Amino acid sequence: MSTWYLDWARDHCIAFGFGDNQAETVLAWGPVFIQLFTEAELRAATKNMLASADAPKFASDHRGAIIRSVQNTRANAGRKANTSSLVSGACRDCGGCGIIVVPHPGCTDDYPPRMKPILPMPRADPTGLTRTMGVCCVMCEAGGRTRAASEHHGRPLATISEYEHAYPNWRQVQAERQRVLNASRSAPTPEEIAELERTLRAARMRAAERDRLRTAS
Ligand SMILES: [Zn+2]
Repeated sequence: MSTWYLDWARDHCIAFGFGDNQAETVLAWGPVFIQLFTEAELRAATKNMLASADAPKFASDHRGAIIRSVQNTRANAGRKANTSSLVSGACRDCGGCGIIVVPHPGCTDDYPPRMKPILPMPRADPTGLTRTMGVCCVMCEAGGRTRAASEHHGRPLATISEYEHAYPNWRQVQAERQRVLNASRSAPTPEEIAELERTLRAARMRAAERDRLRTAS
């Protein structure tokens, strides 16, 4: 078992005055806890439980309390990150453009893992070069506006939540797709890079124009 887990288990037992029997209980969680948590998370959980007035008395009740404590800390960290990304203006999920680029469900016909098209989706690019699609961000206002605009035009774009619900493995598919692309592609030419920069600039200008019109109205 990892040394760090033994160290943490020892300190946790000392902190709560556990005897040998209870220490064995804490050690028994090791194989699972090592996979689920980091040392820092477990040490923070010990600290939080020490500071709490109703920390359970017995080691057997500590397991649930530790898991809840780590989950709370993670949820708080997530909320903080989202809030700060909204405050700074650039959304962490979409970069502020309201759209997240994800693999098209038909994108992996030629190699595993496959995605099965079960949502109504735009057709994959027949050239096979651009097998991605956009979904609306749900973490920022720009995402909400994009969704509303697409609904207004009668062709609502899926949100990232709907997409992720349908394709929970999309991040693996994305990583695999990227791996294959990286392996098969030569380095981009200066022309390709310039073209990409032009496209991005145009997209940013369109977004700025949208914002300007919105604030003006
Ligand atoms: Zn966003």
